[in-house]
Amino acid sequence: MIKRRKTKTVKVGAVKIGSSASVVIQSMTKVPTTDIARCVRQVNQLVKAGCRLVRIAVPRRADTAAFAKIVQKVNVPLIADVHFSPDRAIEAIEAGAAKIRLNPGNIKKQKDILRIIDAAKMHRVAIRIGVNEASIRNLKKQSVPAEKRTALMLKEMKQYVRLFENRNFTQLVLSAKSSDVLRTIDINRCIAETFPYPIHLGLTHAGLPEDAQIPSTVTLGALLAEGIGDTIRVSVAGNPLEETKIAKQILIALGLYERSSPELIVCPTCARTEIDIVKLARRVEKAIRDIDKPLRVAVMGCIVNGPGEAADADIAICAAKNKAYIYRNGRRVSIVPERKAIQALLKELQKL
Ligand code: SF4
Repeated sequence: MIKRRKTKTVKVGAVKIGSSASVVIQSMTKVPTTDIARCVRQVNQLVKAGCRLVRIAVPRRADTAAFAKIVQKVNVPLIADVHFSPDRAIEAIEAGAAKIRLNPGNIKKQKDILRIIDAAKMHRVAIRIGVNEASIRNLKKQSVPAEKRTALMLKEMKQYVRLFENRNFTQLVLSAKSSDVLRTIDINRCIAETFPYPIHLGLTHAGLPEDAQIPSTVTLGALLAEGIGDTIRVSVAGNPLEETKIAKQILIALGLYERSSPELIVCPTCARTEIDIVKLARRVEKAIRDIDKPLRVAVMGCIVNGPGEAADADIAICAAKNKAYIYRNGRRVSIVPERKAIQALLKELQKL
């Protein structure tokens, strides 16, 4: 079991972030914020998929105006993603954001930051300080060595956090992102050692879903396994539901998320396999899709090693030529023709 790093608890609406709470999945909407109906629909889809917080970008005044309406129509705390404008930050706070995200590389004037802190305090809104490697001017040159990059990101975070603490504001979540896996791991370790605040984990510009999945999983997995990370966002170019799916899989793999649907285990197949296991597994996947129990269902390619390797599955189908051997809790319960495998599986599932 993973021992989480002890942090302060930060409340984002009704959602707690920090070591006293479970790791929170979040994602971002990817439709124009001013298209309120589409935005609300996407927020609701993300919540249904497992997000407990949703972030929305508010680059223009029209977006903060739309944000105020979206807040009224959804049932999840919303985070406003602010870039360059302190006015947008204050508008978003007043519009009902539960948290705002600020990038120290983009809002630098002390008087602007203090204005935002005061508004956030008054409205009990949390703030994420999100340092981004690409926004630090001194780090734009390729030649800057890795240690210097980490040191500069940490320095920027320290300066920003100090301003907030001097103003007695501690409802902070911190993040430091890079598109480089090792640098993101490194800087987050430093932040975890330096500050008591919860950490938001993510890897920026991770790529298309098929390219983003592995770097994100390696980065977030390594840090979460060390107990670092209290809320996560997987960034992929494309549908944010993909982000949520990957984030959930990472947390499930680490035992940080309770599964509520079946887990499908499929053997990798080898020369012993006598039927099309991928085709059979796809049929099983479809058959169990709507079950809302955390069952383990295995599809194995042979009866030599299959039954042993699937011994901890609730139900296993071990395939032989034209036949399917059905196991429930490690015990063989029937042998059926391959074409009747799904029917037999569903019959056994009803008994669990
Ligand atoms: S379960 Fe059987 S078919 Fe599948 S990989 Fe193992 S030995 Fe090969």
